[in-house]
Amino acid sequence: MTRATRARIDTDALTHNLTQIRRRAPEARVMACVKANGYGHGLVEAAKAFRGADAFAVACIEEALEIRSSGLGHPVVLLEGVHSAAELNRAQENNFEVVIHDPWQLSLLEESHARVPVWMKIDTGMHRLGFDPAEAAEARERLLGSGGVKGELRYMTHLASADLPGGEPDAGQQIRDFLECVKDWPGERSIANSAGVIDWPESHQQWIRPGIALYGATPFADRCGRDLGLRPGMTVSTELIAIKSIRKGGQVGYGGFWTAPEDMQLGVAAIGYGDGYPWHVATGTPVLLNGELSQVVGRVSMDMVTIDLRQHPQAAVGDQVVLWGEGLPVEEIARHVGTIPYELLCGVTRRVKFDVV
Ligand SMILES: *Cc1c(COP(=O)(O)O)cnc(C)c1O
Repeated sequence: MTRATRARIDTDALTHNLTQIRRRAPEARVMACVKANGYGHGLVEAAKAFRGADAFAVACIEEALEIRSSGLGHPVVLLEGVHSAAELNRAQENNFEVVIHDPWQLSLLEESHARVPVWMKIDTGMHRLGFDPAEAAEARERLLGSGGVKGELRYMTHLASADLPGGEPDAGQQIRDFLECVKDWPGERSIANSAGVIDWPESHQQWIRPGIALYGATPFADRCGRDLGLRPGMTVSTELIAIKSIRKGGQVGYGGFWTAPEDMQLGVAAIGYGDGYPWHVATGTPVLLNGELSQVVGRVSMDMVTIDLRQHPQAAVGDQVVLWGEGLPVEEIARHVGTIPYELLCGVTRRVKFDVV
């Protein structure tokens, strides 16, 4: 028997989510973010499910090349730009679009004979990548003078706190500062991540850049994907491999972290932090056992986790256990772990069998 630990990737759900996101920004074109292995769903699988998008966005050239190798001819945007003259040439050969966010990258373009589509990145408060608005005009002059920009120069910024009500820096202020900075310049604009698409219509502009929402989750603390008509792209599941009877007072797992309050049965499920089900999962974190709610007790180990069977007297070896996905929002699990859904989705390890359906 093979190990039952699976990540089921529902490509229909991914395609459905793209349609839902388009409806929220009908005037905008969609740059689907498929970086980090398609947020853990599989880069090429995700990109194919999003083939109706207008472009793809990735973090690095290796990811962009993987998209090209799969036969997809869409525009691909390198969100961090290029890091060497050689990468710039490869970007040109493959017609990748390049974000320029730093004077060093500007020099690279000036010194090269390559011509590529360029997005100039402006930092309106994230304080990670991008030109300060006060330096933007000069950077733009250099870009236009470099001879390296193919087509019309375009502009983007990134929102730091669009998912946090009343968050700082204020997304509304970032949007206003960006639009003010670029107001005299022709060329398309892009601001919105998923939170921007959903909560900040003024961020839509000509191009939206959704990521997490396309995979069926949201960045919000108080709303799940299903509240917004999105469907989970990934369902992680396994099976019970043992049923264990334990006496009242018996301690469970590493560190004896959990003590049975009565004589009871535990289910042992074949998943652990070696699969990307985090060690930080605490007692009380929900799981679905044969579609019904149960909970984790004790510490997660590398390959196994123990489940409370007090409400599930019929449970048997081979029963299905869902850790997140269909019927159990990944956002809810993230909250129990003290992380974000992005990290859970990206963190499923290679040992897990991916079923792409
Ligand atoms: C990852 C990323 C996005 C997508 O963000 P989500 O919160 O997943 O929607 C958008 N823009 C940039 C620059 C990114 O790096």
